[in-house]
Amino acid sequence: MPYFIDVILPLPLQKRFTYAITEAEANFLEEGMRVAVPFGKSKVYTAIMAAIHQNPPQVYEAKPINQILDKNPLVTKHQLKFWAWIASYYMCAEGDVLKAALPGAFLLESESIVELKKDANVEEAEVGDEEYLVIEALQRQSSVKIQEVMKILDKKTVLPIINALVQKELVVLNQEIYEQYKPKKIRFVRLNPDYDNEARMHQLLDDLEKAPKQKEALLSFFSIKAQHKKPLKVKDLSDKSGVSAAIIKSLIKKKILEEFYEKTDRVTFSGESSQTGIQLSEIQQKAFSEIEDGLQDQDVCLFHGITSSGKTEIYIKLIEKVIANGQQALYVLPEIALTTQLIERLRAYFGDKVLVYHSKYSINERVEVYRHILEDSEKARIVIGARSSIFLPFANLGLVVVDEEHETSFKQFDPAPRYHARDAAVVLANLFKAKTILGSATPSLESYFNAQHHKYAFVELNRRYGNVLEPEIEIVDIKTKYKKKEMKGHFSDRMLAEIKETLDVGEQVILFQNRRGFSPVLECNTCGHSPQCPNCDVSLTYHSHNNQLRCHYCGYHIAMQKKCMACDSPEITTKGFGTEQIETELKAIFPDYKTARMDQDTTRGKYAYEKLITAFEQQEIDILIGTQMLTKGLDFRKVNLVGIMNADNLLNFPDFRAHERSFQLMLQVAGRAGRTKKRGKVLIQSYNPHHQIIQQVSMGDYAGMYKDQLEERYNYKYPPFYRLIRITLKCRDYSKTNEGADWLAAGMKNVFKENVLGPEFPPVARIRNEYHKNILLKIPQQQSLGKTKKILQRIMESFKAIGAFRSIKVVINVDPI
Ligand code: ADP
Ligand code: ZN
Ligand code: ZN
Repeated sequence: MPYFIDVILPLPLQKRFTYAITEAEANFLEEGMRVAVPFGKSKVYTAIMAAIHQNPPQVYEAKPINQILDKNPLVTKHQLKFWAWIASYYMCAEGDVLKAALPGAFLLESESIVELKKDANVEEAEVGDEEYLVIEALQRQSSVKIQEVMKILDKKTVLPIINALVQKELVVLNQEIYEQYKPKKIRFVRLNPDYDNEARMHQLLDDLEKAPKQKEALLSFFSIKAQHKKPLKVKDLSDKSGVSAAIIKSLIKKKILEEFYEKTDRVTFSGESSQTGIQLSEIQQKAFSEIEDGLQDQDVCLFHGITSSGKTEIYIKLIEKVIANGQQALYVLPEIALTTQLIERLRAYFGDKVLVYHSKYSINERVEVYRHILEDSEKARIVIGARSSIFLPFANLGLVVVDEEHETSFKQFDPAPRYHARDAAVVLANLFKAKTILGSATPSLESYFNAQHHKYAFVELNRRYGNVLEPEIEIVDIKTKYKKKEMKGHFSDRMLAEIKETLDVGEQVILFQNRRGFSPVLECNTCGHSPQCPNCDVSLTYHSHNNQLRCHYCGYHIAMQKKCMACDSPEITTKGFGTEQIETELKAIFPDYKTARMDQDTTRGKYAYEKLITAFEQQEIDILIGTQMLTKGLDFRKVNLVGIMNADNLLNFPDFRAHERSFQLMLQVAGRAGRTKKRGKVLIQSYNPHHQIIQQVSMGDYAGMYKDQLEERYNYKYPPFYRLIRITLKCRDYSKTNEGADWLAAGMKNVFKENVLGPEFPPVARIRNEYHKNILLKIPQQQSLGKTKKILQRIMESFKAIGAFRSIKVVINVDPI
């Protein structure tokens, strides 16, 4: 009897493909191993073996595989199940999931490019003859394609050889370009462990009688350490105690203190855990116990804790229990680049048991993390990562924490799989019979609804840690302010007074404006024309720092125009304002203070966020102006004022979630103020100070917001009452887009009747010269989701069979955000 395997190819194919294997291969192969297989005319791909059987395929003849690439499975059985769930729930191909799930370096294909690794030590490495030939070729030319390797070695199955070279760290594949920036190392001091006993300590202090300044410095060191268990920065020691750098140096020279360095961002961390025993406050302890109790009978617990209530410490305690049990914990965050602070906190506590999975890591770093987790190594007890970390090969997951669960960036928008990491994390945890905690100060309506209906356990924490009061929120009516001429640029007199007061006492300010660039629209006073992107249906945004007009959808840009492009009139005005303009105005008003911007334009590089955050933490920046990037769980000690420049453009966004999101955004930025001792202050500038949402923000009234919004969702048939699937057609041909959308919508309306909305052009109907048109399917609670998707799939298949529509791309988005 012949043997066959079904494999998942890294391609958007609806089905698995079947290949023939020999009996010897059948004895060796296990599910989850990689195999190199021929596909198409002449290409070779790395595929994942997903099933073994003896049934030949019906409609084609199974080709033999080229080679087995692994000795042990690279993909676990849990992963294979999880992928299958993602593909079916989010209506995409398993191959799409595979590509999202595995680091690219695992997926060699015949068009991959091989390069010599920069610091490769070729002389000392042990390489086989064939491997040597590849190295030799790479010493002559900078890179070779896998196709060329086939020629060099005169054989087809070269992937194992390349794989071996990758493992030996001699070559790299398709190496990504990443910044050469070396993360800033921070200098710490600690006591030389030799003095870690009382007798020696007394001796030391006696010896230092002759060096009173050094003795004094040492005593300051102890008193600071007694207050904070965290590693002490050299800078902090001199700042807090007034000890001069020279004296610290002499203590280090005498080997009384030791200095050590830490990088803030690395795959593994070699430091010791320096923080022992977090003491939860009484109310934290209560929340902790409630979560544990809740998770006794339920798989998911929604943890609604206001900003700065100390949720992280509670997570740490929960994680501690799980890893003491020998299990792994996953901590998922919306934006890993923004979480240096959290990583530091976890590492201070758990030391080198924490691994970070970073979207900005290079291919090789990602491979390293993947392998640690697969091997269930001691380094992989706790994994912290952004949404794609749910795809890692956990062996023994016990707990998943989804922090800031309301964040919309948990949903992948493009390309497929368009999964929601929060929802998928719950499924992942279930596969392991593990528990999930969803945490937020402003939960999503969906999660809160689940908690209210007892699908999730629910725990609240309503007090800030240390009993710091929640910031005081003041609303500034800028309509009146403009009338009374009490505005300077985009700043009300109230805002300026508060900024000045804050800066005067040496504290910091955060200003929030949800638009980047200088001003969104440029308009001619004479004819009303505003410059448009030629590729997209949007106006160009003016950026003053490079004097450009840019499209935020496709990146198209031209130089700033001096005259109207339509009528040549020189009278051009700008409308609206972005972060850049705020910064320009501020610099003019507060020339003695340092400002910085945090938005997509200033945070492109691998370490750009970190540099900004570190600079702000160390008070090298006084005022930080930013977009919603600012809202994500940052914990700064010295921020006492938060200003929201314009609440209205959030509220007016054309989306059924706009109000919920405005509430979350405003409350989250507000939460950055006054986190330590003093009560913080928040100013919200708005043209509609009486808007229900702004009122609810100012009172921190989550329950009120929930109730109102839920009613609207009920009345207009939106989630959580109805599920949504959005279908987007994309095509360069305008009328074809319309025809296709009409056909598809008619087909859907036949079955789903009034629950089909559209087709409709979105607000930006053309992007990169492609027209977009949406159809929305609403699915009532009692309608089977599985059946609905099957029917939809069938309609899609008939659609794709129509020749005239072949040039139309169709994107299916389940649970769109
Ligand atoms: P949240 O995530 O709920 O906004 P954090 O976990 O960032 O709040 O906590 C706010 C601040 O209070 C942090 O600086 C944190 O270190 C501190 N904190 C919270 N709980 C404790 C505790 N039990 N012991 C010491 N510090 C704590
Ligand atoms: Zn004009
Ligand atoms: Zn454009």
